[in-house]
This record gives sequence, C-alpha cells and structure tokens, in this order.
Amino acid sequence: MEYFADLHIHSCLSPCGDDDMTPGNICGMAKIKGLDIIAVTDHNTCRNLPAVSEICEAYEILLVPGMEITTKEEVHLLGYFPDVKTALSFSDMIRTHLPKAKNRPKFFGNQRVMNSDDEQIDEEEALLMGATDLSLSEAAARVVEYGGVPVPAHINRGSHGLLVNLGLMPDSPAFPTVEVWRHLPCDPGALMGRHVLHASDAHYLGDIQEREHALRLEHAAVSDLLDWMRSKKKEEGQAEGAAVQVG
Ligand SMILES: [Zn+2]
Ligand SMILES: [Zn+2]
Repeated sequence: MEYFADLHIHSCLSPCGDDDMTPGNICGMAKIKGLDIIAVTDHNTCRNLPAVSEICEAYEILLVPGMEITTKEEVHLLGYFPDVKTALSFSDMIRTHLPKAKNRPKFFGNQRVMNSDDEQIDEEEALLMGATDLSLSEAAARVVEYGGVPVPAHINRGSHGLLVNLGLMPDSPAFPTVEVWRHLPCDPGALMGRHVLHASDAHYLGDIQEREHALRLEHAAVSDLLDWMRSKKKEEGQAEGAAVQVG
C-alpha cells in the first residue's frame, strides 16, 4: 500500500515553530491535506507528542514519534522512535545534554507545551535552540539505544545540513536513510545505497506537505516504517520494499 507522509514537522514547542502549530492545528491540516502518516519532530524535545498522538488517533493518522536533535557539530539529526513513551524518555535524556542557559522567548520564540485540547499547559524553559553536547555519532548511537532510527535531516541544506557542515557522508554510522531538501540539488554520491525521505520541515501550518511523498509499506505501522528506514537499500534491479517519491 502507498501511504502519503510528511515526516518532519515542527510544533509550537520549537522556538522557531509558529504559535499556530498546535497539535490540533497540525493534525487538522494533515487531515485536510490527505496525509496518512506524519512525524512531529521538535528541536531537542518530544514534549508535545502525547497531545499530537491523541489527536492523530482521533483523525486516524499514523504518528511516528520523532525529534530533531542538534549535534555538537550543529548538524540536525532526526530520530524516529517506536512509541511516544520511549520518545519521552529519550527527550528526558537529551535535556541533560542541552546548554544550561534558559530560553529567552522574546529573542528565540515561545516553547509551548500543549494538551490534546490545544491548551497550553507549560512553557518549556530549556534552551531548545541550542546544540547538545553530543557528537553526530554519539547522538545517532543514543537514538539506536532507544530502539529508534537516526536520519540526518536536510543533508544538502546550508543551514545545519550534514553534507554542508561536515563536507561528506561519514563511513560510520551508516545512515541507511537520509532526508534531502528537495528544493536544492544533492550530491548523488551521498545518496547511493540509501533510502531518501522528502519532508516539509514545516514551521508554519501552510507549509505542511501535500500528498507528494509516498511510502510503500505492507502496513501503516510505525514498526514497519522504522524497519524500512534501518534496512539497507536494495541494489538496482532488486525489488524495492518501500518508499518511492511520487510527483
Ligand atoms: Zn533542521
Ligand atoms: Zn526541522
């Protein structure tokens, strides 16, 4: 089956995410756009996932619990997790690797923690905009320890993209799946033997992706998607088990 997905969306908990990116609005917009699978991936936190997950369930949208981690090298690394509970414990661990300084909402933006009635229940104090003290390989190893899959974000983008920050794909970790910013060219060598995701990196409601990026999965299940992301891409000519980009 083909499922349309947007696996990189920021909520109002990300300081750079618009205040209108509430869990209710994100899920509502995803439903209007006809998406089957979404991931909310806030910077260095997962605290809005319980609310997002409840609303996704009501809308019959599959939520892949995620986070966008900022590594010591200022590379953005997406982490996708098997369930919300695991993502929350990962989030608690990441908090201990953030700078000690607090967020300055007027300067960096609000960090709104929401419930499933779209009410603000807390303001996150940690400086989510900052980089963690984990290197790319350390952060990736942590994601794997929690049963998740690390996926370098927008690798070809100047700001926080792996290829631009590090100059090349490292030999290890292997990163069988990468996210590519579709509005810019990408070195094809970096994509050889890897699955490629295209997502919106939406910070505003209108930017959430249309039915453009399809994933071909046996079942709409987080475990199936994570298995595919951590699998090695089959060579040309072999049947590809999963995602294709449409359009
Ligand atoms: Zn990013
Ligand atoms: Zn992002």
